Amino acid sequence: MRWNWKKTAPLLVALSMAVSAGACSSGSGNGSGPTSAAQGGSGESAANESSPAATGNAGDGPGQEQNHEQSGNAGSGQQQEEASNGSAGKTGSTSSTVTSGSSGTKGAQATTATGTSGADKGTSGTGKGASGAGAAAEKKLLYKMTPSYRFKPINDEAPSKVVLLTFDDGPKQKEELTKILDALDKHNAKAIFFVNGYRVKQNPDLLTLIDERGQTIGNHSWDHIDLKKETEQEVQKQISGVQQIVKQTTGRSPQFFRPPFGAGGDTVKAIVKKEGMLFMTWSDGSLDWTEESKNKPDAVIRNVLDQLHPGANILMHELPWTADALDELLTKLEAKGYGFIDPATIDVKGSLS
Ligand SMILES: [Zn+2]
Repeated sequence: MRWNWKKTAPLLVALSMAVSAGACSSGSGNGSGPTSAAQGGSGESAANESSPAATGNAGDGPGQEQNHEQSGNAGSGQQQEEASNGSAGKTGSTSSTVTSGSSGTKGAQATTATGTSGADKGTSGTGKGASGAGAAAEKKLLYKMTPSYRFKPINDEAPSKVVLLTFDDGPKQKEELTKILDALDKHNAKAIFFVNGYRVKQNPDLLTLIDERGQTIGNHSWDHIDLKKETEQEVQKQISGVQQIVKQTTGRSPQFFRPPFGAGGDTVKAIVKKEGMLFMTWSDGSLDWTEESKNKPDAVIRNVLDQLHPGANILMHELPWTADALDELLTKLEAKGYGFIDPATIDVKGSLS
């Protein structure tokens, strides 16, 4: 460990509040949400997942974005039962890494690039163009999420030494996003992009790009506000607004939800479940939103590797230094024997039960 989180945490809090524009500031975009009611009190600092003091969330478990030293711990108290899955028809683009034409065969090969990345590189560019087009068969479900937001194989068919890659707070900029998408393709990796509705409204073309590149889109609320502080009605708007705009843009509704700041609560979880989504925070925070990592791809890589564990749910953001770090990070993960979970192989219904 190069630095001590406990010692630096108070400093981080102060710094992160000061630089909230760097990581996931909502900026002017907030006003374009389905509702502006939430905006008054949320303030700029709340737009940053790294602003623990500002958001005041505590004790929400392992995924608490401001509480990373606990991020590996279980016991979130998450209580999800069954939910009807309204968006089960997940066909199409997310299946692109599975060999085309192998519909109906197992999708296991898509779940891990371990040991095959070299071979895949040569062909990764091929096939990608068609990723959004084909109505590829649904992939076989291979992984379930645990109450601590980690992933484990449903049976021994899939490897356990895998990670889930996630990128929050976009879609923002084509250049960074493309760099991330290219790195993922190079490593034959899939990820969840947890998007905010107001950003989708600003950049619908970028949402389409994510979808067409065969990646999975998740719901990160419309305005990136602390949902714990909102009324049930507002929470519903914040969540369903994203479902709608993503459905309008891509034809499919998200199946995964991550609350801003990792701030959930019973109301949020109930609505997420009602919408047929799987609620998750994370188990391995890259800390890419902190001042210590700003403009430092090496720090992002180090932070992820420091917390690495089988089934890790890795939190990253659409940020320039994360985009710069990604190729090397994925190379290092592969060198350690890790593969990448294809979100399309996560058993949403099974994880909810
Ligand atoms: Zn966020």
